[in-house]
Amino acid sequence: MQGLQKHSSGLVAAQRLSKHFDEVVCLERDPLGGDRDAKTLPTKRPGVPQFKHAHGLLGRGGSILDDSFGPDYRSELLAAGGRLVDWHSDLVIHALPGTTFMRDAPGSAPPPGRPPMYMYSATRGLIEGTARKLLERNPKVTVRYGARADGLAFSADKDDGGRPAAVEGVTLAGGGGVVGADLVVDCSGRNSRVADWLGAAGWEAPPVSVVDAGVGYVSRHVRLTLEAQRRLEGIELIAGLPLYPNPQFALMQRMEGGEFMVAMAGFAQDEAAGSPPMVDDVAAINAWGQGVWWPEFNELLCGATALGPPSRFFNLNNVHRRYDAVALPEGLALLGDTVCSFNPVYGQER
Ligand SMILES: Cc1cc2nc3c(=O)[nH]c(=O)nc-3n(C[C@H](O)[C@H](O)[C@H](O)COP(=O)(O)OP(=O)(O)OC[C@H]3O[C@@H](n4cnc5c(N)ncnc54)[C@H](O)[C@@H]3O)c2cc1C
Repeated sequence: MQGLQKHSSGLVAAQRLSKHFDEVVCLERDPLGGDRDAKTLPTKRPGVPQFKHAHGLLGRGGSILDDSFGPDYRSELLAAGGRLVDWHSDLVIHALPGTTFMRDAPGSAPPPGRPPMYMYSATRGLIEGTARKLLERNPKVTVRYGARADGLAFSADKDDGGRPAAVEGVTLAGGGGVVGADLVVDCSGRNSRVADWLGAAGWEAPPVSVVDAGVGYVSRHVRLTLEAQRRLEGIELIAGLPLYPNPQFALMQRMEGGEFMVAMAGFAQDEAAGSPPMVDDVAAINAWGQGVWWPEFNELLCGATALGPPSRFFNLNNVHRRYDAVALPEGLALLGDTVCSFNPVYGQER
């Protein structure tokens, strides 16, 4: 028996499926590349455009990884420089001008009765790479890199509507043939093409609901000045939330290696209306920071050294593809952003 996967909710699904199938094959379109070294900064990852942006894995996501991969997940993530952050004591969040919340003294124990509110904080490369390394140690799982799926392989037998009744595998791009499977799980993310593949075989497309907040997002890895680093001692993440009529959202998040990822977002997809400038110019980004209602942001960023070019992300719609509302062939499951993707500035679940 064989299950078939893609990354990176696919990493978790593969690990879990290996308890029920004799063999699990993960197909990953990106070649094995620079994101292998857990300590390096995000590198090119065409299949995951959000790879270069700051990532924090909130409690539920973290516990799913812990449950799936066991205690090694946490220990390897932290050994490689990932951070375990308590929202109560390690963060500063400016929610209204002049106010902050969720802040105990740095490193302090939570008051009795209040459980910590942990998240993993690291580059996407480390969060994902740690899971991948553990998955590759699973003898029932094979990960095939540089293997891009370009369609579904269907059974010859038809259902009552004359459509192929079941999915029996995946076809690979470049004439790579068919990888057969008893169960295909599509985890190919927000740009998944599975709806097109199903449609070509006569299956109804799911209704899609889209909520577009017009979010534009820029991230940049920076080295802060010694003075700014001193001010941020004991703080893992500092953020200012967008507040009407100010659309800017800005955060600084400590990454492995101790440097910070700066992320800035606006809600208009339009620089004039508040989105950050999409230029490789720290002065312009600093100038944008001056427009953030939270003045400390610009003070902290002033004089920072950019450690890489800014990465931008638009089209951060919230998209729900309602596969639950349509019939699907046997042998196919869909997970992760394939089904539902949120804009990351506020579309979160802890
Ligand atoms: C800017 C931004 C910031 C974010 N920040 C956070 C955050 O801080 N915390 C958080 O929890 N979430 C964050 N998210 C959301 C998070 O990244 C996604 O929800 C999550 O990665 C979805 O996982 P997935 O497995 O469904 O898809 P992905 O992680 O996108 O993985 C899809 C995988 O499938 C592969 N693939 C795609 N097509 C094919 C194909 N045809 N054949 C083979 N392989 C293929 C891709 O290479 C990739 O490895 C952010 C998203 C964005 C856009």
